[in-house]
Amino acid sequence: MSRTLLVNAVLATSAREGAGALAIDGQRIAGIWFREETEKDDSKALQAFPDAEVIDLGGKVLMAGGIDAHVHFRDPGLTHKADIASESRAAVLGGITSFIDMPNTIPPTVTAEALEAKLKVASEYSWANYGFNIGATNANADEIIGCLETDFRHSIGGVKVFMGSSTGNMLVDRKESLEKLFSISTKPVLVHSEDESIIKANLAAAKEKYGEEIPFTEHPLIRSRKACIMSTIHALEMALEHGTALHLLHVSTKEEAEMVRAAKIHNPRITAETSANYLWFSDEDYSRLGSRLKCNPAVKSPQDRAALRKALEDGVIDTVGSDHAPHLLSEKEKPYLSCPSGVPSVQQSLPVAFTIGIPLTRIAAAYSEKVAEIFGIADRGILKQGAYADIVVVDPEEEFTVKEVASKCGWSPYEGQTLKGAVKMVWVNGVLTAKDGAIVSDRSAKALYFK
Ligand SMILES: [Zn+2]
Repeated sequence: MSRTLLVNAVLATSAREGAGALAIDGQRIAGIWFREETEKDDSKALQAFPDAEVIDLGGKVLMAGGIDAHVHFRDPGLTHKADIASESRAAVLGGITSFIDMPNTIPPTVTAEALEAKLKVASEYSWANYGFNIGATNANADEIIGCLETDFRHSIGGVKVFMGSSTGNMLVDRKESLEKLFSISTKPVLVHSEDESIIKANLAAAKEKYGEEIPFTEHPLIRSRKACIMSTIHALEMALEHGTALHLLHVSTKEEAEMVRAAKIHNPRITAETSANYLWFSDEDYSRLGSRLKCNPAVKSPQDRAALRKALEDGVIDTVGSDHAPHLLSEKEKPYLSCPSGVPSVQQSLPVAFTIGIPLTRIAAAYSEKVAEIFGIADRGILKQGAYADIVVVDPEEEFTVKEVASKCGWSPYEGQTLKGAVKMVWVNGVLTAKDGAIVSDRSAKALYFK
């Protein structure tokens, strides 16, 4: 097996950042050396880990590869838009070494059989380590709870609950079903939180005003902040009542961040995610990007964006998931009412955090360590001796303009944007898989093991 020593790095973990070196032996991290103040080089590491290929990182940032727990890779059933091979490749090129996919595929991932089928496809085609969330419906809570009592629980990421969102048949709105799902204690309960009745009323009003040609600038008014806030009040209430490990997905408003801050005091198992889309864009971008920024929840105001950045910095927002949700441009170019929601973003998610100046320790936490903790992912997401060598090297100062998009759909709302934090090298299970924006090895991905 190969031995590699990465020297002259800026190592970043949730606890610490500093100059040092990291050794890879085969699939695993063999050692980490932070320099003491008096040390000017990595000679200690070079002595401790001889006979290795030495790579000088020239002061670039080295951190655990990203774990993106919120992607829609469209496989199976929608593979004209995206598939596990194409999107996991885009993920790796963006510094994401593991993903957990969402259940709104065809068929939906609402049974153990459907989840097993996805695992099989990923084992053959995925470039990044792979895991899958299971989707809740009004009818399958008992089946999910049954699954979680078997060994199959180690193959399930979290339980996705669309609270009041119209995503096929996965809307969960029955009180009895919600009570059962929020009583699950062994997995994170992942909630998409938007109040469907408020959205329906707003949409009816917009149709009244505009007919069929609703402008895309109306999107944040139709899928309004109130729809998010009211649903999140409900989700937090239930999580407080049941002690749920609620992981609130793609938080998009200042008010929700504040509510999460308060709720955590009473139930520390409550966590929150936002996506790069809400950290980078604002509702002012709808006039420029139109349908290309149509996603659910809608992107909110610049004030919300500022509050979300701050909440990510101070740890109220725990994680960043991309909510990578590709559609073909031909689908996105339809009028508002028939244009599908969702934007591709997995490749840009990590550089956005560098561009907006999130501290390195917080990037390390939000993109990998905390994700691994919430989902109980063993031996990944952390720079630790013995952990799998899923590693990303980023040049925090290198600017680049987004031009080439690796996703199958071939476009991104980030096209033309200048970002910082170029992904230079990516190791997956100890194999250097991507370098300078190109894939340089065969696949080495594994299934994620959830504790
Ligand atoms: Zn999503």
